[in-house]
Amino acid sequence: MRRDNYQRDLDLGAGYHLNQDNPMMHEVEKGDSLWALTRTAEGRYVLAAELIVQAKTKNRPDFRYGEYRVWGDVDRSRYFRVEGAPSVEQIIRSLSIRAEARVLGRSFQGHAAVREITEEDHQILREAARNLPLEPRARILPEEKLEAAIIMGDRSAVERLVRDEEPGVAEERKQYFYEKAPQRNQNLVNRLQNLYSGHCQICRWDPVDEYGESLCEGHHIQWLSRGGDDALNNLMLVCPNHHRAIHRCDAPLDWGDMAYDFGDHREAVAMDRHLT
Ligand SMILES: [Zn+2]
Ligand SMILES: [Zn+2]
Repeated sequence: MRRDNYQRDLDLGAGYHLNQDNPMMHEVEKGDSLWALTRTAEGRYVLAAELIVQAKTKNRPDFRYGEYRVWGDVDRSRYFRVEGAPSVEQIIRSLSIRAEARVLGRSFQGHAAVREITEEDHQILREAARNLPLEPRARILPEEKLEAAIIMGDRSAVERLVRDEEPGVAEERKQYFYEKAPQRNQNLVNRLQNLYSGHCQICRWDPVDEYGESLCEGHHIQWLSRGGDDALNNLMLVCPNHHRAIHRCDAPLDWGDMAYDFGDHREAVAMDRHLT
């Protein structure tokens, strides 16, 4: 994985996912380990992360970092501290993937960036990672609280959340949370309320008809706390039950079949005309 992408992930609060344009990304099974390698500023090859696969989704068609995404289990995956980490070059060269290029990185260019390893390779990497210090910036802000504070325009609550999560949030991100997000949010959600007449985009629940109130809420497909934008094409209108379920289950949207992945089942987005 590119060093700048790794840094960006961490600055935005560690996404616990990886994107690639190689379909082999989706050959991993849930519970498998996905090992990420990166290069330090000094040119050392080091272990960046072990993601324990929780879900596999496709990205929106215009997504810059590849079509295939793998999500790591937030509690079991690990991001390693890259600065000062030992080189794993010799270890990588000893694996079955035959990384033989004279400059190691050349063995991982283009589609070769994604490689299938054996169980034995996995055990070797596990051993290499056993005592590695973890990256303190790898964590996710509490999305529900953050979103609620932003929507309420409660700047002091947002500041408190961000402060509690130091050092996980970059300066630029903080400014976004404090200044930009609170201004725009409700306007966009209102547009979705109009577009879908207040219906939940997943189950079509219609609170306006039932209670005369717009009870559905804006959900950020790529969570704000994971670097998602407060933009219409990153927002959906969902009922409070679906909103709760998506957050609690950490269910990602698969843009391939427009369905939320809840682990043991998927739920299709029934109304999606502002996204397609
Ligand atoms: Zn719903
Ligand atoms: Zn949400």
